[in-house]
Amino acid sequence: MSFLPLTSIALDPSALRGDFPILSRSVDGRRLVYLDSAATSQKPRSVIDAEVAFLTNENAAAHRGAHTLAAEATELFEDARATVAAFVGAEPEQLVWTSGATAGLNLVAYAIGNATLGRGAPASARFALAPGDEIVVTEIEHHANLVPWQELAARTGATLRHIPVHDDGRLDLDAAASVIGERTRVVAFTHVSNVLGIVNPVADLVALARSVGALTVLDACQSAPHLPLDLPILGVDLAVFSGHKMLGPYGIGGLYGRTDVLEALPPFLTGGSMITRVTLDRSEYLPPPQRFEAGTQPVSQAIALAAAVRYLDGVGMEAVHAHERALGERLIDGLREIEGVRLLGDPSTASGQAVERVGLAAFDLDGVHAHDVGQFLDSRGIAVRVGHHCAAPLHARFGLTASVRASTALYNTIDEVDVFLDALSQVRPFFGVSA
Ligand code: PMP
Repeated sequence: MSFLPLTSIALDPSALRGDFPILSRSVDGRRLVYLDSAATSQKPRSVIDAEVAFLTNENAAAHRGAHTLAAEATELFEDARATVAAFVGAEPEQLVWTSGATAGLNLVAYAIGNATLGRGAPASARFALAPGDEIVVTEIEHHANLVPWQELAARTGATLRHIPVHDDGRLDLDAAASVIGERTRVVAFTHVSNVLGIVNPVADLVALARSVGALTVLDACQSAPHLPLDLPILGVDLAVFSGHKMLGPYGIGGLYGRTDVLEALPPFLTGGSMITRVTLDRSEYLPPPQRFEAGTQPVSQAIALAAAVRYLDGVGMEAVHAHERALGERLIDGLREIEGVRLLGDPSTASGQAVERVGLAAFDLDGVHAHDVGQFLDSRGIAVRVGHHCAAPLHARFGLTASVRASTALYNTIDEVDVFLDALSQVRPFFGVSA
């Protein structure tokens, strides 16, 4: 098999692979080739150490207690907030800790539902939905950015509409301009699809939403680990991301919000730590971000996520993006050459339009079920994701129930992509599928 020549690589992954202990393990005697970072990324030693160090030396609940450990934990927790907020271009008070992107999106949907019930300050009324109001999503969303909106629509009588996707994987912006209209109150969409790997035109969608006064909610799960991200510059009102996909630990994520939006949004979860005054009858709430952080917080996870973004910053997100773009080009060029491969979303073939991508591709292999492809690759030590990747409607749009997804991160090498492509080219012959 021959591949196109490489574009320039701005980062040397072999120099940083030693920072990721798991990458040196083997699977059934074969060297691990981890191409499932879109599901969850691997963690550098500095992230693992940061969590262990906190639990070993300073462990205490943040924002509670007057003792030394509690003060140290609070300071580290709030320093972590400032570090992670800066990573996405935000101020510390614009970053709410959540347990992940799913939790962040549910927080927003339930808060809007509470505004609809008349809860919150008078300013919350701007988020209230009436029957006939519209919530707009896209056809390519992860279930985490679809199901909460279905539930909100069902609770409020709002109508859920969607922006369709072209055959080549680009969102249909002409259709978006007619779907987003006078009744649109919320437009929720992903920055980068976890199936197509295409970077969506955030500015165009924000402009359409703004022209009708709708709130924008961005799912930045698959962009935060791979591109330089400045959420205020992107102009979205709210955005979510997951720590575990960006070299951080499980159980932590971020909800970014424009200050005026967070200040006006009623809380979702309520309880300890988010109040100023409580009587038996009623309570008053703290300003954001604490208003949205009820209960004992994930302190060690926040500290480890700060270590993760320090690691990413140390490498440089421009370099990460350039490297992963090169991996993605190699991956897609190689996939196009393999008999029987059909890529989900391949903009260059259909429209000749240039699109920005991350190093991720999902495909169908004619004649072999995705799960069989996954098992064959696993037998070679290669980890990919198979199934609908929590994007069943997108798969249905392409006439599929499952696909195979290979996804890269900063620690992957071109050599690993080639190992994957070589193994994949053996799958159809192995299963006796002829051309
Ligand atoms: N959105 C996208 C685009 C994702 O890829 C994922 C994770 N697969 C999520 C949302 C949900 O993230 P989490 O499961 O970490 O809450």
